[in-house]
Amino acid sequence: MIPLDDARARIDRDISQLPSVLTPIGESSGLVLDETIVASESMPPFANTAMDGFAVHAIDLAGASEDSPVRLPVAGTIPAGSVATHPLAPGTTMRIMTGAPLPEGADAVIMVELSRPVDDEFIDLIAEVPTGNHVRPAGDDLREGDVVFAAGTVITPAHVGILASLGRESVRCIRRPRVGVFSTGDELVVGPVALQPGQIRDSNRPGLLAAVTQAGFDAVDLGLLPDDEAIITAALNDAVRRCDVLLTTGGVSMGDFDFVKIVLGKLGDFNWMQVAIRPAKPLAFGIIDETPVFGLPGNPVSSMVSFELFAKPALRKMMGLPKGPGTIIGLADEPFLRHPDGKTHFVRVQAKQEADGAWRVRSAGEQGSHQLSAMAAANALAVLPDGDGVAAGGALKIMLLNS
Ligand code: AMP
Ligand code: MG
Repeated sequence: MIPLDDARARIDRDISQLPSVLTPIGESSGLVLDETIVASESMPPFANTAMDGFAVHAIDLAGASEDSPVRLPVAGTIPAGSVATHPLAPGTTMRIMTGAPLPEGADAVIMVELSRPVDDEFIDLIAEVPTGNHVRPAGDDLREGDVVFAAGTVITPAHVGILASLGRESVRCIRRPRVGVFSTGDELVVGPVALQPGQIRDSNRPGLLAAVTQAGFDAVDLGLLPDDEAIITAALNDAVRRCDVLLTTGGVSMGDFDFVKIVLGKLGDFNWMQVAIRPAKPLAFGIIDETPVFGLPGNPVSSMVSFELFAKPALRKMMGLPKGPGTIIGLADEPFLRHPDGKTHFVRVQAKQEADGAWRVRSAGEQGSHQLSAMAAANALAVLPDGDGVAAGGALKIMLLNS
C-alpha cells in the first residue's frame, strides 16, 4: 500500500493546466480568467443620483425643516437614461429618478420622501442636505485604466456583471476539462429492465457524471462496457481522442475479469496503486496519448470517494482552480471507533454547524463500500487516521462534500 499523499503526488506530476479560450461572458462563471481586465471606461460613467427625488444646490436648503420647508420651482424632470436640457439655476430644483445624471450645477439630491407637493410648479422640501447627498460620482466603482481583475481570478456572477458593464462580450478563460465516464462490468444493466439473476443496475456512471458536472467540469457519458479486453481497448483508444480526462469504474481490483487495469497497462504508462485508504484502495492512473485516465474502483461508494480524493483535485488543477477547500475540524457527536489497519478511513458522516460555529459530526449510516445510502445521507467525509479512532467529544477532520 502507498500513502494517500504519495498517490496524489504521483498523479499531480502528470497533470497540467489546459489552454485558455475566448469564452462568452455568460459561460464564464466558475472559470479562471487568463487575461488582465483593465477598465476601458469609468463606472459609473457619469455622476448620477442614488435616489428618486430632487436635484438641488445644497445651499438652497439651508434651514429647511418640516415646520419651515423651502419652496422651490420645479424646472423639469430627468428620468434615468436622459440628460437635463439645461443647467440647474440657483434657487430651483428638478425632479430626478435613480440612475439619472445630475444636471449641471446641482450638487446634491434630496429624496422624494422629504418633499411635499404644492402644485404643478412648486415643491416644498423639508430637510437640509449636505453637498454630495445621494450623489454617486463618476468613477465611484471603477476608474478608467484601473486593473479590475488579475489573471487567475475565479469568475463569479459579480465578475460577469462587471465585465458586462465594461462592454465585454467574451473573456479569455482556461477551459473546462471534458471528462468522459465509462462503467465496466458484465453484471451491469441500465434502466427499468427486469434484473436477471446476478445483474445490478449501473449506478456509478450516472453518479460520477453528476459529480463531474457538479464540480464544474464538462461530463461526457461514454456508456457501459462489458468485461472484454478487446472492447475496453477499442473504447479507451477512441475516447482519449474526444476527452481531456477519462474516468472508468470497475475492473481495477484483484478479480479474474478485472480487465481495465490490464488494458490500461498495455495502452499507456500506468500506475496500479493500492492506496492506504478505506474505501477506495485500488486505483489505476496513467496517460494514454497525453490523456490522463483514472481507473476508479467499482464499488459505488469507492468510486465516489476516489473521485473526490484523486480525480477532482486533478481536474481543478487542469482548470487553473485553486486547491479545494480541504478539511475543517469537527467534534464527534458519537464515538468513531476503528482498528489499526495501516489505512486512513473516510467515514460518511452528517456534519451540522451549530450556533456556536462548531461542526458536530455523526455517522451517516452503514459504512460498507457498496452501501451508497450512507453516501447519499452524508454531507461530509470524516478522516480517521490509522489507529483506534476518536471518542465521543473528540476532534476529527472532515471534508465537506457537494460544497
Ligand atoms: P469490480 O471493481 O469491477 O470488481 O467491482 C466491484 C463491485 O462494484 C462489484 O460488486 C460490482 O458489481 C460493483 N460495481 C462495479 N461497477 C459498478 C457500477 N457501474 N454500478 C454499480 N455497481 C458497480
Ligand atoms: Mg467488475
